Amino acid sequence: MDIKELYKEIVLDHGKNPRNKKKCKDFNQDAKGHNPLCGDKVHVFLKLNQDKKVEDISFEGEGCAISMASASIMTETIKGRDFNVAKKILEHFLHMLKEGSKLSINSLSEEENIRMMSLSGVKRFPMRVKCATLAWHTFVHAAEGGNETVNTEK
Ligand code: ZN
Repeated sequence: MDIKELYKEIVLDHGKNPRNKKKCKDFNQDAKGHNPLCGDKVHVFLKLNQDKKVEDISFEGEGCAISMASASIMTETIKGRDFNVAKKILEHFLHMLKEGSKLSINSLSEEENIRMMSLSGVKRFPMRVKCATLAWHTFVHAAEGGNETVNTEK
């Protein structure tokens, strides 16, 4: 299978059957995000422990397939990792979406890298980049204890 097709399949799969789409038990931080350009809405729930490790993460919301797939992939990638590592992963992810750079993060397995890279196709559609990053920005906001809704246009 060609890599682009593999990517498409991963995104379709996560868009149709998002993982961790629920309110996780015992969450202690949460935040909402809104992308008015597309109408995507997410609500991210986090269970952060004292060492700022993400013990659990989940989301609720509705929106386009890209936004849901990205939120789903995010929860799978971030769960069990330290917040600082998660932020590094996000930096690489944003860079990939903007510059089309290849993603290769040491702390991720090859499978996890491929799962993240499946979203790289949005680079060609600047409007879609906001769909793909909404859940990630909302996650950071939740972890940092922000109260306002994340708005991609503000
Ligand atoms: Zn969208």
